[in-house]
Amino acid sequence: MKCVNCGGALEGTMTFCPYCGVRQDIDLRQIHFRDMGTDVSQPCPSCETPLSVIEFDTTPPMRIERCGACNGMFFNPGELEALLDHQTNPLVWLDNVQLQQISSDFGFQHEVVYRKCPLCAERMGHVNFGGRSGVVLDRCGTHGVWVEGGELRRLTEWWRAGGKLIFQQNEADKTKKLFQERPKPVPPTGSIESPEPTDDWSWSRPEAAGLGAVLGALASMILD
Ligand SMILES: [Zn+2]
Ligand SMILES: [Zn+2]
Ligand SMILES: [Zn+2]
Repeated sequence: MKCVNCGGALEGTMTFCPYCGVRQDIDLRQIHFRDMGTDVSQPCPSCETPLSVIEFDTTPPMRIERCGACNGMFFNPGELEALLDHQTNPLVWLDNVQLQQISSDFGFQHEVVYRKCPLCAERMGHVNFGGRSGVVLDRCGTHGVWVEGGELRRLTEWWRAGGKLIFQQNEADKTKKLFQERPKPVPPTGSIESPEPTDDWSWSRPEAAGLGAVLGALASMILD
C-alpha cells in the first residue's frame, strides 16, 4: 500500500502517511459506494465539514453520512453491523489471538473527546463497540454511531476474526439485563426421576419462627 499523496510505503492500518502527513482513506477500499452529494445541515462531529451522503452497494443499498475531509462516518442504529456483515464471510469463527491483537492495538489510541451528534447536536457518549473490540465509538442513543477515519477498517478486521460472535453475545447479555431474565431450568425430557420441588422456600419458614423465639428468649433474659 502506498500514500495517495507522496507514494511512500505504508503499513496496512496506517491512517496518516508518516512521510507527508496526509490522511489515508483506508476504510472504503474494498467497498463499492456512490457519492450522493453534500448535506449542509449536518456538520462533521470531528472537524465540522458538512457531511456527504454516500450509498453502499449492499442489498438493500444503505445510505450513511460521511466526512470528505477526515473520512469519519455516521451510521444509524443497526447499519454498522449490517455493513460489517456484508463484508464478512457468513462462516465466522473465533480467532482469539487476532482479536486480542486488534483490541490492544487500538484500545489506548483514542483520545477522550466528546463530540456532538450531527443530527441532534446533543453530546454523544462513548461505547466500546461490541463490549470488547477496543474500538471506542461516539454514540447518540437516538441517532447512531460516529466511526472515525480508520476505525471501520479495524472493526471489519475484528468482526471477521470472530468479533461478530462477541458482539452478538454482548447484545444478548444487554437484553437479558434489560428484562431481568433468570435462566429457566430445563425441564427433564423422557426422564423417570421424581419432579423436583418447585418451592424451596418452605424450609426457611419454621427457621424464621425459631429465630423469633430465640430472640424473644434473649430479650427476656436481658430484661430480667
Ligand atoms: Zn505521503
Ligand atoms: Zn470531518
Ligand atoms: Zn442524535
